[in-house]
Amino acid sequence: MKVPLLDLKPQYQSIKEEIDRAIMKVVESQYFILGPEVEALEKEICDYTGAKYAVGVSSGTDALLLSLMALGIKSGDEVILPTYSFFATAGVVARLDATPVFTDIDPVTFNIDVKEIEKKITPKTKAIIPVHLYGQSAEMDEIMEVARKHNLYVIEDGAQAIGVQYKDGRFVGTIGHTGCFSFFPSKNLGGFGDGGIVTTNDEEIYHRLKIMRVHGMEPKYYHKVIGGNFRLDALQAAVLRVKLPHLDKWSEKRRANARLYYDLFEKTGLVDDKNNYLKPEKIILPEAVYKNINGLKNYHIYNQFVIRVANRDALLEHLKKNEIGCEVYYPVPFHRQECFAYLNAVDGDYPVSNLAAETSLALPIYPELKEEQIEFVVRKISEFYR
Ligand SMILES: *Cc1c(COP(=O)(O)O)cnc(C)c1O
Repeated sequence: MKVPLLDLKPQYQSIKEEIDRAIMKVVESQYFILGPEVEALEKEICDYTGAKYAVGVSSGTDALLLSLMALGIKSGDEVILPTYSFFATAGVVARLDATPVFTDIDPVTFNIDVKEIEKKITPKTKAIIPVHLYGQSAEMDEIMEVARKHNLYVIEDGAQAIGVQYKDGRFVGTIGHTGCFSFFPSKNLGGFGDGGIVTTNDEEIYHRLKIMRVHGMEPKYYHKVIGGNFRLDALQAAVLRVKLPHLDKWSEKRRANARLYYDLFEKTGLVDDKNNYLKPEKIILPEAVYKNINGLKNYHIYNQFVIRVANRDALLEHLKKNEIGCEVYYPVPFHRQECFAYLNAVDGDYPVSNLAAETSLALPIYPELKEEQIEFVVRKISEFYR
C-alpha cells in the first residue's frame, strides 16, 4: 500500500468546479496582481482570524521579511527566534543585516522555550519571532509579557498555523504586532503557487506594510521609504477564497487522523511514558498542550504530525522501503547551519533542538488519508520495533 506524505489531488477534485470557475473569472478579468480578489481575501482572512488588518503578500517568507522591514528592523539589530524551524524564520533576519539570536525549544511542543528568551536580551534586541511549529500555538502570554517589559516587537511566524487558536481562544497572528502566514501548497491553506499574508491590529503598522509591499510607494512614483515587490497574485487569492471556507473542516480531519494514530499507537504498547521527551526508548507521540481547554476547537491543526523515535534514520529507511512517505522537519537547527557559522553559536546551548533533529519524524496526516493507510503506517512502525 502506498501512503504519500501529502497528496493534494483529492482535495482539488473535491472542489474542482468551484476552483476552475474562480480561476477563469480572474483570467477573463485580466486583472492579475493585487486588485479586488486580493482585497476580498484580505477581508475574509480578517473575518476568519479576528485580525483588524491583513496584507496579501508573495510568500510566507516575504510576510516575515516585510514585517521586519515595516517594523524598522535594520543592520545591527538583534532578533530572538527558535533555532528549530524552517529556514525562512532566521533567513529573513540575516537578509536585513540584523542578527538572528537563537534560543532552544520546549521539549514537549517544539516551540520556543520561553524561559530562554529573557537570557538572550541585550540593548540591541528589537524583536522576537515565535514560531507556531507544526500547527500549535507558542506560549504567547509569556512571550508578550517579556516583550512588553523590554519594549520589543513580536512577529508571529504562523506559516504552519493558520486558524490555530491560543489557549484563550484568540487566533495566532492576532496576538503579536504582526502575524505571518504562508499559502505554500503544503500548508493547511495552500494556494496553487507561492503566496502569504500578514495580519496586524495596528493601523500604523498596517499602513507601512501596505506601502512597503509596493516598493514603499505613496503616492504613485513617490518613495519616502524603501520597500520591495511583495505583492500577491489575484489568481492565488481567487483559489484561496474558494478554499478558506473548507479550512476548519480539513483541519478537523487532520485532528481525527491524529486521534486514530493515538488509538492505534497506544494499542501497540510501544509508546514511551511522557517523562521521556528527550530520549525516546521507542515512540513518543506529539502532545497537543491546549487540548481540552474550554472547548477550544483549533488547539492544533496538525500541519505536521511529528513523532519522536529511537533509531530514527533506520526507521525512516524501513518506512520508505514500504512506500510510506515521511520526512524529517528539521534535520539541521539554525545554529548548526553553515551559513550561520559567523554567529559562533555554541552547540551545547541547544540540547533540546539537537535531540529533536536526531529523533523527530513527520508521518502522513493530510485530511484525505484513509483509515487503512494510517493502520498500515502504524503496523509498519510496530513491525520495525519488534
Ligand atoms: C513554510 C514556512 C515559511 C515560509 O513560507 P513560504 O511561503 O514557503 O515562503 C516560514 N516559516 C515556517 C515555519 C514555515 O513552515
